[in-house]
Amino acid sequence: MSGAEETQRYVESLARELGADMVLAGESVERYCRDWHGDVTTGAVAVLRPRTTEDVSAAVKACAALGLSIVPQGGNTGLVLGATPDQPTRQVVVSLERMTRIRRIDADDFSAVVEAGCILSEFKDAVAREGMFFPLALGAQGSCRIGGNVSTNAGGINVLRYGMTRELVLGLEVVLPDGSIFDGLSTLRKDNRGIDLKQLFIGAEGTLGIVTAVSVKLTPEPDQVATALLGLNSLDDAIALFRRARRDCCDLMSAFEFMPPLAFVLAREAIPDLAMPIAGDYRAYVLLEISGSGLVDIADLMERFLGAVMEEGLVADGVIASSQGQARNLWLFREGMNEGQAKRGPHLRTDLSVPLSRLADFVRDAEKAVADVLPDCVCVSYGHVGDGNVHLNVLPPGDLPRAEIDARIYKAKTAINEVLDTYQGSISAEHGIGRLKRADYITRLPAVRRELLTALKSAIDPTFVMNPGCQLNIERSS
Ligand SMILES: Cc1cc2nc3c(=O)[nH]c(=O)nc-3n(C[C@H](O)[C@H](O)[C@H](O)COP(=O)(O)OP(=O)(O)OC[C@H]3O[C@@H](n4cnc5c(N)ncnc54)[C@H](O)[C@@H]3O)c2cc1C
Repeated sequence: MSGAEETQRYVESLARELGADMVLAGESVERYCRDWHGDVTTGAVAVLRPRTTEDVSAAVKACAALGLSIVPQGGNTGLVLGATPDQPTRQVVVSLERMTRIRRIDADDFSAVVEAGCILSEFKDAVAREGMFFPLALGAQGSCRIGGNVSTNAGGINVLRYGMTRELVLGLEVVLPDGSIFDGLSTLRKDNRGIDLKQLFIGAEGTLGIVTAVSVKLTPEPDQVATALLGLNSLDDAIALFRRARRDCCDLMSAFEFMPPLAFVLAREAIPDLAMPIAGDYRAYVLLEISGSGLVDIADLMERFLGAVMEEGLVADGVIASSQGQARNLWLFREGMNEGQAKRGPHLRTDLSVPLSRLADFVRDAEKAVADVLPDCVCVSYGHVGDGNVHLNVLPPGDLPRAEIDARIYKAKTAINEVLDTYQGSISAEHGIGRLKRADYITRLPAVRRELLTALKSAIDPTFVMNPGCQLNIERSS
C-alpha cells in the first residue's frame, strides 16, 4: 500500500469512528502543520477538532487503536516546534480550537473554569467584564489558547508580580493517553492531600495527556496602571533599578522590560510611523509598569519613585504615559521589535535565564563570545530581565545565502550556550523544549533526572501516543 493510500485508510477509519465533522484531511491540515514563524512546514495524517472532553477521549482512543500518535495543538504560537508534527505519516494533530467555552467565572471565589481552546485575550476580556483580572499577559495573547499556556507553563510580562502560569492554575481536566479522564478541576486554594498531580501536566508540552479544561485564580482588576519608558546608561544600572523598584514600589511593579537602543530601530522598521518617546540616546531602556487597585495612589507612587532615582542619576531620562493610548504606544516598541527582527530574515532566537545578580555579566560575556566568532552578526539582548530572563538574539547579515545564515545561527547558539553553562543558566526560561531545543536539552540532562522523566513518561503513556519527539525522544522499545 502506498503512503497516500495508507493515510486515506487512516482518515476513513477516523471519520467512521469519530464522525466526519471532527476530521480534517488533505490540504486543510496545512495551516496546522506550519510553525508560527513560517520557518518549518510539515504535514499530518489528519487534524481532529473535538468539541467536548468526551470527543477528546474518543479521539485519543481511536488514534491509539490505529497505532497513530497525537500532537496536541492550541493556538500554535509556541516557538519551539512542540505543536507541529515531525512524522507526517504517523501523527495526528488534535486541535482544541473548538473547545472555547468559559464554564464559570466566580467573582466571590476569585476563580474561573475555562476550556483549553479559549483564546487567552478572549478569556481575559470576559473576566474583565466581571471586574476581575487574569494576569497572564504575552505578545501572542490574541492567538494562544489557555491549554497551550498551561502546557508550556507560559510566562510573559507579569511574571514578576503574579508568577508563571503554574502559579495561576488551581486545577485541571486532562484526557490521559488511554482515553480516561483525570478530573481535577478543583477551585480550592489550599489542598494538600498528597502529591499534587496536576503539576505533572503543567509544562509537559502535551507529552503526558491533553488538557481539556483549567480552573484558575483571578485577582481584582487593577484600575490604576502607570507606565514609564526610561533611558539609562547601562544594563548594570537597569538591574540596580529593578532591585530598587522591588523595594520602593511596594510589590506593585507588574512589568520591567529591558531593551537596547536597537529596539527602537527594529520597532520602526516594523511600524514606521511610531513616534520616538524619548529625545536623547541611551545605552539601555526600561519599560516599567506599576499597577494596583483600591486606595493606593499609583500615579503618585510612580512620580515619587522616578523623581528619586533620576535625582540620584540611576535613570538619565524618562517619560510617563499620560493616557492609555500613550501607554499602548510605549508597549508598541517592545512588541514591534520582535516583528522588526523577523523582517531582517532568519536569525537566532534564544530564551535564556540566569540568576538575576549575574545577568549583566552574562549578557556582556555572551555578546563578546558571539562577536569573537561572528564579527558580521548583530546581537540584540532584551526581555523580562526582572525574572533573570533574556532573549539574546543574533541577526546574521540578511543578504547571505540561506546555508551560510544557518551556519551562523548554529555557531552563535553554540557560543552562547557555552557561556550559559558556565553561569548554570537555563536554555529555556519560558518557551519550553518542543522539538527545536530537544538536543540541547538532552545533552544537559543529568542521568538521574533523565531516568525519572523516562519512568514518568513510561508509566503515564506506556505506548508513547502523546507527542513523541517533543522534549525527550524516548522510543517505544526503550
Ligand atoms: C509574539 C509572541 C510572543 C510570545 N511571548 C511569550 C512570552 O512572553 N512568554 C511565554 O512564555 N511565551 C511566549 N510566547 C510563546 C507562546 O505564545 C506560548 O508558549 C504559549 O503559551 C503557547 O500557547 P499556544 O496555545 O499557542 O500553544 P501551542 O503552540 O499550540 O502548543 C505549545 C505546546 O503545548 C502543547 N499543547 C497545546 N495545547 C495543549 C493542550 N490542550 N493539552 C496538552 N498539550 C497542549 C503542544 O503540543 C505544544 O507542545 C510568545 C509567542 C509569540 C509568537
